[in-house]
Amino acid sequence: MDDAVALKNGDVMMLANLPSEVTAQVPKGGKLRFMLEETDSEWNADFNNAECDLQAEHRKGDSHTTGRAVIEVASHVQTPARVELSYEGPSRRNIRLIVYTVGEQKSISPNYPRTPVFGMLMAACRKRGLVLTDWHIHIRGGMTPELAAMREADCGIRSSAMENHGREWEIYDNRKLRAFAEKAHAVSINGHHLPTGIQVNDRDWFSQIDAETRSCFDYILADTMIMGKLPSGRDNRLWLDQSIKDIPAWMAAYTEHTLRILDEPISILANPTYLPKEIADAYDDLWTEERMKAVIAKAAEKGIALEIQAGSPFPRPKFLKLAKSMGAKFSFGTNNFDPMPKDLSRWLEAIEWLDMTPDDLWSPSDNKQRKP
Ligand SMILES: [Zn+2]
Repeated sequence: MDDAVALKNGDVMMLANLPSEVTAQVPKGGKLRFMLEETDSEWNADFNNAECDLQAEHRKGDSHTTGRAVIEVASHVQTPARVELSYEGPSRRNIRLIVYTVGEQKSISPNYPRTPVFGMLMAACRKRGLVLTDWHIHIRGGMTPELAAMREADCGIRSSAMENHGREWEIYDNRKLRAFAEKAHAVSINGHHLPTGIQVNDRDWFSQIDAETRSCFDYILADTMIMGKLPSGRDNRLWLDQSIKDIPAWMAAYTEHTLRILDEPISILANPTYLPKEIADAYDDLWTEERMKAVIAKAAEKGIALEIQAGSPFPRPKFLKLAKSMGAKFSFGTNNFDPMPKDLSRWLEAIEWLDMTPDDLWSPSDNKQRKP
C-alpha cells in the first residue's frame, strides 16, 4: 500500500495503489470531498474514521461496479481530518484520486466557465442556428436535476437527466426508475420539463423495464462498452484491462455486438466506435468502411442518434462524415461523473468537421422504433 496521501483542493493524482490513508487539513465545519477511481473491476473501500470525530458518508455512486466512489465528509469535521481506507483482495493499480474540496464549504457551480473554446462553441451554434442538448447527463457524484437545469439557464445548452440501469448498477428496479423519472420531470426550465432518460447496461433491459416505466422516460441511451462476461460472471467492461488475443475475431464480434445493440429499442448510441485502449491505435484498420457503413445504416434507418461525446476520441472524423453523408443524426453528450463542467472542444470540432446544420441534430421524434 502507499503511504498516507495528503489531499489538497483541486488535486488529480495517479496512484499505484489504493492509499492506506488520506489526510487533509480541514477547518472545523469545513468540507472534505474526494473521489477514488480505479480500473480494476471490484473493490470495496471501507470507510473508517481513524482518529477524529468525522461524520462520514460513503456514497456509492457506481462503486460496486466501476470502482468509483465519492467519499464525502461534510459535517463535524475536526482538524486534521484523517480517513483510513481498507479493502480486500489483490493489490490495486491505476488509481486516480480527484480532490474536489478541502476546506471551506464551497457551493459547486455546474456552469461552464467562459473559456475561449466555450465562446467559439456558442458562436458556432449561433451562426449555424444550432440549439444543442446535452443528452448524456448522469445524476451522480453530486449532479442533480436541479443543477442540470441551472446549467441550462446559465448557458442555453439544453440539459437532461439520466440514470444507469442494470443488474450490476444501483438501479435495477422499475419502481426506482419511475421514482427517478417523477423527480427529474418535476424540474422545469425555460417552460419545458427536463428530458429524462435511462442508460441501459444489460442487453435484456427491454424485458426488465416494463412498459409503464418505459413510458415515463423521454429516451434510452446505450453504449457498446460492456461486452460479454468475465469468468467471475460479472460484466466485461471494456474500459478496464482487456486481454484480446485474436484481434480480428474480437473486432468481428464487437461489430456484431454494436449491431445487436442498434436492434434494441434505444434512442441514442453513446460513444459509437469506442475501442478498448489495448487496440485503439488500430482504429483506422479495425473500423473498415464496410463496418462503419453497417453501423451507420442501421442507426440511420432506426432514427438512433450517434453521439458526439465530450472528451472521447471516438468516433473519428471519417466515421462522422460518412454518417452525415448517409443521413444519420447526431446527439451531443458530456457523460459527466459529477456536476463539474467538462471541456467541450470535441463538440466544437465535430460541428466544424460535419459543417453541421440544425437538420443533423437528433431529437426524440426522429426515433422510429416501437416502444418495448
Ligand atoms: Zn453514461
